[in-house]
Amino acid sequence: MGKLNVTVLRYLTKEDFRVLTAIEMGMKNHELVPGPLAAAIANLKTGGVHKLLKELCKHKLLSYERGKKYDGYRLTNTGYDYLALKSLTLRGSVSSFGNQIGIGKESNIYVVADEEGTPICLKLHRLGRTCFRNVKAKRDYHGRRHKASWLYLSRISATREFAYMSALHERGFPVPKPIDFNRHCVLMDLVNGWPMTQVHELLDIPQVYDDLMNLIVRLGNSGVIHGDFNEFNLMLTDAGKPILIDFPQMMSTSHENAEFFFDRDVNCVREMFRRKFAYESEDYPKFSDLVRDDDLDAEVHCTGYGFTKEMEQDLLQEYGMVEQSEDEEDEGEEDEAPALVTAAAVEIDECRRQVENEVLYSEAKPAQKSDDAIRRYIES
Ligand code: ADP
Ligand code: MG
Repeated sequence: MGKLNVTVLRYLTKEDFRVLTAIEMGMKNHELVPGPLAAAIANLKTGGVHKLLKELCKHKLLSYERGKKYDGYRLTNTGYDYLALKSLTLRGSVSSFGNQIGIGKESNIYVVADEEGTPICLKLHRLGRTCFRNVKAKRDYHGRRHKASWLYLSRISATREFAYMSALHERGFPVPKPIDFNRHCVLMDLVNGWPMTQVHELLDIPQVYDDLMNLIVRLGNSGVIHGDFNEFNLMLTDAGKPILIDFPQMMSTSHENAEFFFDRDVNCVREMFRRKFAYESEDYPKFSDLVRDDDLDAEVHCTGYGFTKEMEQDLLQEYGMVEQSEDEEDEGEEDEAPALVTAAAVEIDECRRQVENEVLYSEAKPAQKSDDAIRRYIES
């Protein structure tokens, strides 16, 4: 574990940002983005773009690859990190970078600092990293097949995490305070406590057990299930109070497999207490005991975080929370060359608009960010 390599943030220009964003937008519909398409989307002079693309490859923010049918550029992990971190920096949400403090199932966790120098937590979502091009055929808004890439999955994962964390925090659940997010990155308060994995003794074992079970029930009564309620996702403050983290896989209690995941969360706690503290109790919650008193699940769907059912489904599949549906098993066809002739003008227009949005959004100060701007950003 080391430092986040952010030296590149210092010397890259607005044009670099624009070109990287153009590749990002092109990648929504194509695995590789040919130079001329990148230039058209970036809306800069072709000659200039070519030079910028070369430089970005040299710094490994992009890579140039040979596909089966055409060649083109692809955003690297580092390139995507750069886009998100640059946006968060321009907006003043982050001002310096520190060390990695954790590695999760699907993320890297760093300590960074805000403009006052207060340490905060940065979570970079990395879905599909075992296979770099973990791609699944999807249909885009024109009904054409395209790939659901790690870019798309990591971004929904972070967005979903931020949405749930916000809704939970507003209701006073013991979760870190969400601060900001961009693309696959989430900023939140640094929890002052110990990961449960490192806790081997408790002053009041039954009390912590009850706190955890009550937390599961309170979530359930609000309409949600954490879905991964284990010692890796629980932290304990010095006062012995649990803080829950890690939310992208959360689901509604109305989900078809809700009871299964509810029981699994409950059993995680029982198993952990049996194993770590030799503690067993006959007292544990059942799904049928839940009494709904809130619609947190519905709020996360509707408050303008821009989730479609399909996005939701893609992510939950990735987390193994729902079965992969038959027609999404891919026959692996590759898209045709998105040369300027085949890429519809409307697509270029759409991508250009998205690049402008990204550029504007990244330069807006957090105070200027209306809910509306956030919505437009997420929906783009
Ligand atoms: P993943 O989704 O990859 O499992 P997590 O959100 O569970 O990622 O974070 C991984 C680890 O990073 C946690 O187990 C914890 O040790 C640490 N961590 C995550 N969020 C925070 C935070 N807000 N404050 C302090 N440590 C954190
Ligand atoms: Mg985790």
